[in-house]
Amino acid sequence: MNKVALFGGTFDPVHRGHTACVQHLLEKMDFSEVVLIPAGKNPLKSEQPAAPAEDRLKMIHLAVSDFDGLIQIDDEEIKRDGPSYTYETLKRYLEKHDPAELYLVMGMDVFEELDQWKNYEKILEMTNILVVSRPPFRRPFGIEELPVGIQPLIHTYEKGFALLKSDRTIEFVRIDTDDVSSTQVRKKLKTGKNIDAMINMEVEKYIIEHEVYPRISPGQVDFVELTHFVADILKERAMNCAAYDLSGLDKLYDYTIVASATSTKQAQSLASRIKDAVKEEYGIAPFAEEGREEGKWVILDYGALIVHIFYDFVRQEYHLEQLWSDGKRLKI
Ligand code: ATP
Repeated sequence: MNKVALFGGTFDPVHRGHTACVQHLLEKMDFSEVVLIPAGKNPLKSEQPAAPAEDRLKMIHLAVSDFDGLIQIDDEEIKRDGPSYTYETLKRYLEKHDPAELYLVMGMDVFEELDQWKNYEKILEMTNILVVSRPPFRRPFGIEELPVGIQPLIHTYEKGFALLKSDRTIEFVRIDTDDVSSTQVRKKLKTGKNIDAMINMEVEKYIIEHEVYPRISPGQVDFVELTHFVADILKERAMNCAAYDLSGLDKLYDYTIVASATSTKQAQSLASRIKDAVKEEYGIAPFAEEGREEGKWVILDYGALIVHIFYDFVRQEYHLEQLWSDGKRLKI
């Protein structure tokens, strides 16, 4: 029987979570065809894809080459300019094809926003929906856990299966995928970490050969970005956080951040948190670190950026910020 799954996404890059999903559809759910639809611009995301459309398309071809003819790759969305609306894609698909059964496949994260999509009510008349699990799997217990705009369209809901008033269905299925996301893959690539478990080898080769995603080496750190990155961590957890741009002044460093902790213990744990986060995101460790044992005034020296974390009581003794009064206070 002609049972077709349309599976859209940014695929930036395509990863093992996506391919596990495709495999499950073909091997365990009797789909006769899966159509992968890489998106052009996502109307719901302010950030647009990191990789050019042609690269994303090529990576998808490489990732699914083992599935032979059971997969189609539809490049219409990325060929068209402007935002990619699923409603238009579905309409276009149904003008050309008439499958006996049609399903739109999406992860739970995407389903939760379905009632914000353009013409979602019409979409739910045109196709069935299959919501695949992203770990951890949890299907909604009742109608009230479904997106608010969708609730009035439901006729019955039981054990992960909704029958809609339009006679279409929404089904929640568990598939075995690791908790992989494209964002994680890009983050790891940035600092040269191993991604073998997350993406197909041919895709990895392509990414490296074509330098699809930026990688940073310690000498290439953007210190303005790093300053904001550290400030974001401190802003949420410490008190009186301030950052200064001192470039152009006669100092040994170009940027500095100062923040207060409520105890020496908190100063120590903030320093550890920053070190771990910077290592994870930028792959670098401070050249020097002072005061962590005591926790009264911890200094992390990243070369062009110096981070000061004070036990607040001690900060008041030093009036450090007077040293930087000629610099530019950054908006953080
Ligand atoms: P991001 O890092 O931006 O969240 P992503 O990994 O979700 O990216 P997309 O291309 O946006 O990748 O996802 C396309 C579709 O695949 C979405 O419906 C998404 O929910 C689903 N999906 C992504 N990763 C997994 C996974 N590990 N398991 C199951 N479904 C997934």
